[in-house]
Amino acid sequence: MTARPVVVVGAGIVGVSCASYLRREGHEVLLLDRDGPGEGTSMGNAGALSPGSCIPIAMPGVFGKIPGWLSDPEGPLTIRPAYFLRVFPWLVRFTLAARPARVAKIADGLRALHRHVYDCYAPLVSNAGCGDLIHRSGTLNVYRSRKAFESSRSDWKIRTDRGGECRPVQGGELREIEPALAPEFTHAMLIPDHGYVSNPYRLVQVLAAQFVADGGRIEKQSVRTLARGPSGTLRVVLEGGREIEADRVVVAAGAWSTPLVAPLGVRIPLETQRGYHVTIQDAGVTPRVPVAVSEGKYYATPMEGGLRVAGTVEFAGLEAPPNFRRARRLLEQVRELYPAVRTEKFTEWMGHRPCLPDSLPAIGSPRGLPGLVVAYGHGHNGMTSGPVTGRLVADLVAGRRPFIDPSPYSPDRF
Ligand SMILES: Cc1cc2nc3c(=O)[nH]c(=O)nc-3n(C[C@H](O)[C@H](O)[C@H](O)COP(=O)(O)OP(=O)(O)OC[C@H]3O[C@@H](n4cnc5c(N)ncnc54)[C@H](O)[C@@H]3O)c2cc1C
Repeated sequence: MTARPVVVVGAGIVGVSCASYLRREGHEVLLLDRDGPGEGTSMGNAGALSPGSCIPIAMPGVFGKIPGWLSDPEGPLTIRPAYFLRVFPWLVRFTLAARPARVAKIADGLRALHRHVYDCYAPLVSNAGCGDLIHRSGTLNVYRSRKAFESSRSDWKIRTDRGGECRPVQGGELREIEPALAPEFTHAMLIPDHGYVSNPYRLVQVLAAQFVADGGRIEKQSVRTLARGPSGTLRVVLEGGREIEADRVVVAAGAWSTPLVAPLGVRIPLETQRGYHVTIQDAGVTPRVPVAVSEGKYYATPMEGGLRVAGTVEFAGLEAPPNFRRARRLLEQVRELYPAVRTEKFTEWMGHRPCLPDSLPAIGSPRGLPGLVVAYGHGHNGMTSGPVTGRLVADLVAGRRPFIDPSPYSPDRF
């Protein structure tokens, strides 16, 4: 235990999980966020919990796809041409991560993290009394043809080689699992141990409230940056000029983390992969399980607030306004997925996935900065890896042997 509070910057699923695990161990913890808990990317995601998910975003052959991403602003994966030069160095690293030997190592690292999702949520949600938000329902990845299904076989092998469970289903069995599905979707992979959170925003808020009930502190503060303090401490510099001196700072500010650590000399190539959702009220269909459509890069999840259709990737940086035509495209796609769906009433949203080029997050202390722990870059899987990161960060702060090998997530690997 430390005399000064451990300061955690960012109250998304990652920061709240870190703060909660640290508080459980008796640390004084101060959690800072410029907005309310869960109001960043953790608010609007698809909620999928994917213990077996381990396919990196960059796979062999990705380089050849980049010209196509530049030409279709409403495609499932797109780069705004005006942003291309800015993102180019990151894309170079991204394509290098797609070499087969790297893919195998990355898949190991993702699986090692994700497989603990339920175990790591369990103490948090049971303490907060919100276990009802976690559903171990199984999920489906659906395809329009045998050919499309067969072409994904190598990806499924990457999962099953690492102990991930999945089973092909088709025809009558597929309709039995998900009666609302359009007949065009003929093949699917059932992933029995995957599940979902039925309200990611509420989950983060309830966990944050429990953290406060357990003696943690939350302040609504925008952090300008971090700086070195006297005798090995760190200074957390707030907008407005106030400074907090701390022995330990955990940076979990998602896609906005870079300017906080850059003055300390930390160089982690973080990029936002923007994603969109529509949440449809009175949709008229209630899917039994979340359905992923790989071709469209989207997920349809039954949520408390309606049917959420979320996904797609857009490289356009943190500042550019959203292109909500991308969200409306999701509406068109869900009509193809569930012919009976009604889509008149919906809300739309855009969020920033915090992504590192190798699809793995950065978790740990950068070299020469033992008081700093970074915990960001959870990309497409932060609802899954958030609580696992929380437990790992608590191990690292305690200085004990971590419950999983942290080396794949080393912030010094770039
Ligand atoms: C469309 C979409 C679908 C997704 N679907 C899934 C899914 O199905 N399953 C899954 O596992 N993951 C999914 N994700 C990914 C997941 O949402 C993210 O990985 C996760 O939310 C990241 O959590 P975080 O806590 O790192 O970041 P955030 O939730 O963004 O939290 C960062 C926090 O830091 C705060 N902050 C930033 N800068 C400062 C500052 N200077 N001072 C103070 N506070 C600051 C912000 O206000 C914010 O609250 C999806 C993402 C998107 C966009």
